[in-house]
Amino acid sequence: MRYISTRGQAPALNFEDVLLAGLATDGGLYVPECLPRFTQEEIASWAGLPYHELAFRVMRPFVAGSIPDADFKKILEETYGVFSHNAVAPLRQLNGNEWVLELFHGPTLAFKDFALQLLGRLLDYTLEKRGERVVIVGATSGDTGSAAIEGCKHCENVDIFILHPHNRVSDVQRRQMTTIFGENIHNIAIEGNFDDCQEMVKNSFADQSFLKGTRLVAVNSINWARIMAQIVYYFHAALQLGGPARSVSFSVPTGNFGDIFAGYLARNMGLPINQLIVATNRNDILHRFMSGNQYVKETLHATLSPSMDIMVSSNFERLLFDLHGRNGAAIAGLMDNFKQGGGFSVEQERWTEARKLFDSLAVDDAQTCETIAEVYEQTGEVLDPHTAIGVKAARECRRSLDIPMVILGTAHPVKFPDAVEKAGVGKALELPAHLSDLFEREERCTVLPNDLKAVQAFVSQHGNRGKPL
Ligand SMILES: *Cc1c(COP(=O)(O)O)cnc(C)c1O
Repeated sequence: MRYISTRGQAPALNFEDVLLAGLATDGGLYVPECLPRFTQEEIASWAGLPYHELAFRVMRPFVAGSIPDADFKKILEETYGVFSHNAVAPLRQLNGNEWVLELFHGPTLAFKDFALQLLGRLLDYTLEKRGERVVIVGATSGDTGSAAIEGCKHCENVDIFILHPHNRVSDVQRRQMTTIFGENIHNIAIEGNFDDCQEMVKNSFADQSFLKGTRLVAVNSINWARIMAQIVYYFHAALQLGGPARSVSFSVPTGNFGDIFAGYLARNMGLPINQLIVATNRNDILHRFMSGNQYVKETLHATLSPSMDIMVSSNFERLLFDLHGRNGAAIAGLMDNFKQGGGFSVEQERWTEARKLFDSLAVDDAQTCETIAEVYEQTGEVLDPHTAIGVKAARECRRSLDIPMVILGTAHPVKFPDAVEKAGVGKALELPAHLSDLFEREERCTVLPNDLKAVQAFVSQHGNRGKPL
């Protein structure tokens, strides 16, 4: 499989190079040159497969030519073997024909484990083969950091530095990062906000001289391997609910547009999906685009669903590329407009096409709490605030009660006690067994000023398993 850039100017790469690439050299994102398409018979024959075997069938075409089948199977069995639920991604029924796909049974209790557990193993496998080492520098507002650290902690050939805004992530989220020890794991608390952290990561990609020749790898969802891993659970859910003979709808709590883009790809690969609903919080750039053809940056609002607090959705560029007939020059132009003017609209027919593909809703904090309370009353289930936004959007946007509606349950509620408390849900939430002593564990973290040079100096001092690069 070959991968091309959404801006049309960077060289095409194979899977192995895309895994290690991050952004393309032209500033674009990598996407498959052509998508595999499965027949209905083929998809139907996968019913009942264990998760890792389904994952092998769905993802095999994407890694073809880079990873032999036997190796890939082994990696997938290991990856999904660490999940604490036997079904890996169980479905829980909320209402008639309304289901939550629980994607929070991985080590860090959010769906990001599905991709980052795999990414860590793929990196180690590939780097071992090539005899290379890499450095990861990632920014997190909460969930990505812990999932990346858990995914990479055993990697022989990866040193990982995660930047989080000092005193601005929840205690559970911070401890999930700072209590994991290893000579290749480095937590840095930046005296600044999340945007400062992200800016430092971006600038580090732009000028990597501080790495003395070591390669820098991305762990945010611009990395294609993350999107690829998320396609699998759409197939998994649909197969449980009578697919592909019957079509299924999905409502997806959305920030960077990575998770729902994977659903769009699943549909293009032959899975009958009826509705794909983009559920956002008050940071609603995607909803404003879907409802009014305005993709315009606005100020960031801190909400009860912090993992969806974004001003721009980086993976949206991948959809725009398809909407524009895969014309890289057109995307480069749009992105230039965005950079200069902070926004754009697309031609009417392209927007109409987008509207056929997606529905959308923005849900504010009050509605989020109402939904948590409502679902608790109806079912006794406690939802996390991100999943609650998905449920609210599913209920508002649903077109047919005959078609199963699946809401992606993106996090465990115990990660977001503030929202659950605000919703007035009396039930005490307990950390799962593997995290029950989280608050007794020792923490390790370095506080650094909001200064790129200081961060880069720290990375080059510790980037070789704690020793200088
Ligand atoms: C990351 C995250 C999201 C948003 O996913 P995107 O792929 O960025 O759209 C939603 N919910 C939770 C809990 C997350 O951690």
